[in-house]
Amino acid sequence: MPNQPDGTEIQSVLDDIAIRMAGEADRGEVASYIPELARVPLNRFGIAVAPLHGEPIIAGDAEMPFSIQSISKVFALVVALGHVGASLWRRVGREPSGDPFNSIVQLEFERGKPRNPFINPGAIVVSDVILEHQSDEADPHPVLDLCQRLADAPDITVDEDVFASEVATGDRNRALAYFMLAEGNIRGDATKVTERYFRQCSIEMSCRQLAAATRFLATGGEGADADIAGVTPERVRRLNALMMTCGCYDASGEVAFRIGLPCKSGVGGGLVAIVPGVGSIVAWSPGLDKKGNSVLALKAIEDLAHRLGWSVF
Ligand code: GLU
Repeated sequence: MPNQPDGTEIQSVLDDIAIRMAGEADRGEVASYIPELARVPLNRFGIAVAPLHGEPIIAGDAEMPFSIQSISKVFALVVALGHVGASLWRRVGREPSGDPFNSIVQLEFERGKPRNPFINPGAIVVSDVILEHQSDEADPHPVLDLCQRLADAPDITVDEDVFASEVATGDRNRALAYFMLAEGNIRGDATKVTERYFRQCSIEMSCRQLAAATRFLATGGEGADADIAGVTPERVRRLNALMMTCGCYDASGEVAFRIGLPCKSGVGGGLVAIVPGVGSIVAWSPGLDKKGNSVLALKAIEDLAHRLGWSVF
């Protein structure tokens, strides 16, 4: 069982980390392939820990909303599993890909079945499943709805500028969707499916909100803060397993080695780490390394986990 420090101890470590991160010179590079993301200042850093109960403990720019990008894939997977259960795994695998998140090459070898739900083609199939089960296309986005309910923050929204930027530059994702359509693994309208996917990636949340929204992954699903369809303890264990093995692109092994916790990152610079039985950690800084993970968020969570003795190993 990981160490259970009290709130005061966590706060003082977070404050110290925020001060040290402010002085870091190597901050990576902001994602520029989605032009709107490149506008975020590189000097931002925030961190939050949501214990199983009570308010998140925060430091730095933890109240500042940022684009959650690939972290939305965790929430989307919860929604899709709620609709189709384990039959999802007939259309999406559960293996790390070892390739970049938007790679097309593996998809061709494997006849349109994506390796896992956390790479882009996997998340696009998940979006297809969600769209297929939505009674009215005009309904509010179920992934946004889930984020709002879990974080208890109805004001969480989609950043329309980031969304427009993704639609304008998303040819590679559309190529993935059309390839899977040709292989019979997309059932709806491929353009609409990718737009749904871009919309969920463009949700903006702060570290505080994201930590609150992901803490159900640390409780084992029990006593989840919201009534989430189909979130059983077994499913939560498996979500954590997927985050550990596939959550940080083709650096998932390296992240497991350094941090030792199930993690999910996004190209907006956010990183979620789950400490089972203790709580959820979110760090954010927009500068990325070559694999697409936030340089400072990784460094900060690695430091925090080591100092507080948090690891699943
Ligand atoms: N919207 C981004 C894309 O599809 C998400 C990438 C990510 O965060 O991994 O390229």
